Amino acid sequence: MTDSILVINCGSSSIKFALYPVSNPKQPLITALAERLGEQAPLLKIRGELNHTVSLPANADHQAALECFTEHSQPWLEQLQGIGHRVVHGGERYHASTLLDETSIQALDDLSALAPLHNPVNVLGIRLTQTIWPQLPQVAVFDTAFHQTIPAAAYLYGVPYDWYEQDGVRRYGFHGTSYRFVTTEAARRLNKAQSDCYFVIAHLGNGCSACAVAHGESVDSSMGLTPLEGLVMGTRSGDIDPGLIEHMQRSRGYSLADSMDALNRQSGLKGLSKLSNDMRTLLQAEAEGDLAAKRAIDVFCFRVARQFAALSASLPTIDAVIFTGGIGENSAMIRQRIIAAWKFIQFRLDDTLNQQHGDDMGRISQRGAPLVMVVATDEEAMIAQDTLELIQHD
Ligand code: AMP
Repeated sequence: MTDSILVINCGSSSIKFALYPVSNPKQPLITALAERLGEQAPLLKIRGELNHTVSLPANADHQAALECFTEHSQPWLEQLQGIGHRVVHGGERYHASTLLDETSIQALDDLSALAPLHNPVNVLGIRLTQTIWPQLPQVAVFDTAFHQTIPAAAYLYGVPYDWYEQDGVRRYGFHGTSYRFVTTEAARRLNKAQSDCYFVIAHLGNGCSACAVAHGESVDSSMGLTPLEGLVMGTRSGDIDPGLIEHMQRSRGYSLADSMDALNRQSGLKGLSKLSNDMRTLLQAEAEGDLAAKRAIDVFCFRVARQFAALSASLPTIDAVIFTGGIGENSAMIRQRIIAAWKFIQFRLDDTLNQQHGDDMGRISQRGAPLVMVVATDEEAMIAQDTLELIQHD
């Protein structure tokens, strides 16, 4: 068996695993997904060198899922060299990935106030793997780190300044690991130094955001203090007027918790369509004449175009508009509608290339027209590479 690096992405009811050989931290040996944890019928699906689907006992938790994964992948874990964790919020403290020790784990726990849905479960994943492999180095890779180059004019809200000073209220931006991967990959394909690259990138998946990249660094992002701001997402509203929370309290007697739940879990594509948070389902329904699905998709696409235009304020030029994430990588229809909605720039997509999700370099625009690309993201590979780099220099 070969030396390997394990990547762990712990969500509220799921864990994603990816095991990479140290010799090639781009191509995983094994990937696995434990889902529906804490529910009636949790499942662990292992793919790659192993092909296994295991039913976990009802209400099985993160620990049970991790133990089950470890048991089934045992031979591949014998020469494990280190573990990389996705951590959603690194606050202003972490500008880059970091080796974990007791002090930094405590710091991540303290950041839970800024990401109550994410950081506690990320820390749980770190603690659980520490118990199983106490001797192995562990690394945290942050969704926020890439955005720490955003200037104050873009990250401050127009609220009392002491909210920032005392409570950390500012825009942080998320999906940073994805944007870092896509920026590096797009620069490579364009044969340019990253320091010469100017991009607007949309990461469109279940969560959606967009980012402006200047000289290879993030200079603005659509997401803010939490991953609720910005684009319309699967179930999240994106930008709203905060006054609507007071309005819903008056008109329906909603508590703060009711409104926050609705904005995080019942809004976005799901809320607008009254049908689904899943873009494939909505495109299918729209094709069959469902006007509510069309309404949701129209709002989604317009909001991305508007966000692109807003982000372009930070850039002297745009080398490429880039799509990534499950929707961005796979839906020619959504890309075409977003580009059509951004009327200020005369984009011309090549329909054939768009249908094929890009040529060799990911281009979907016509030659000579402003460049539009599709670049598949790979956050797990980025985490594996950061982990390897940090443990080799330790
Ligand atoms: P992610 O969170 O990156 O896995 O993306 C999930 C989203 O991508 C869901 O809304 C899926 O419906 C959407 N998606 C995946 N494949 C396609 C496709 N071929 N066409 C449209 N949407 C897709």
